[in-house]
Amino acid sequence: KYLFTCLPDSFEARESCRLALSRCSCKDPQDIGIKLIIQYQTVRYDLLPLSSISRSRLNAVKRKVLVLDLDETLIHSHHDGVLRPSVRPGTPPDFILKVVIDKHPVRFFVHKRPHVDFFLEVVSQWYELVVFTASMEIYGSAVADRLDNNRSILKRRYYRQHCTLDLGSYIKDLSVVHSDLSSIVILDNSPGAYRGHPDNAIPIKSWFSDPSDTALLNLLPMLDALRFTADVRSVLSRNLHQHRLW
Ligand SMILES: [Mg+2]
Repeated sequence: KYLFTCLPDSFEARESCRLALSRCSCKDPQDIGIKLIIQYQTVRYDLLPLSSISRSRLNAVKRKVLVLDLDETLIHSHHDGVLRPSVRPGTPPDFILKVVIDKHPVRFFVHKRPHVDFFLEVVSQWYELVVFTASMEIYGSAVADRLDNNRSILKRRYYRQHCTLDLGSYIKDLSVVHSDLSSIVILDNSPGAYRGHPDNAIPIKSWFSDPSDTALLNLLPMLDALRFTADVRSVLSRNLHQHRLW
């Protein structure tokens, strides 16, 4: 009753599924109990050398700052004592952090969003990266260290103490990071965090455990283009409708 395929997301894989479905009277995989599992996806974003026009354009604009949230944007974690962990039991974490909070040792089980390493490797070539998390420094710095992986691409960091507390929620004031708002972009799963700077924000869906998530990869073409703008708000302010999606 169940058809499992562990093929890459290729033309052949899609054709196999289409053929299997065409042999059934019902075309909806949900209806007939066919479950498609794409084990890995061949999503690529090739880095091509810049043309001379692109290079001169890039030299004419300021290098941009990309502010990155951690939890549910780049990673998801849960800690000891959580009764209902948000990831499927048995899913091994990518790394475990041992942190002492209020004199109590706490273990955090950290899962990396799919493609996060590749994403950071690519965008670090385009932007100055900054970590801005509403989490405590002792946890956020440990996560950032692991994501950085000795590449020195996540050196500038801001934590809970750098947020503004407003009606019980933490807001990230981008002017703390960079005084020129024409050249700063924030990628954050929580719209509330950037409500002071919606024209500088790129929304992203919260990630908890979906292994087929490609949200970070999907942003690469846009981030590649955005670095050529004179003012990121000229593009991102057109994106406001998206803020209601998440
Ligand atoms: Mg977050």
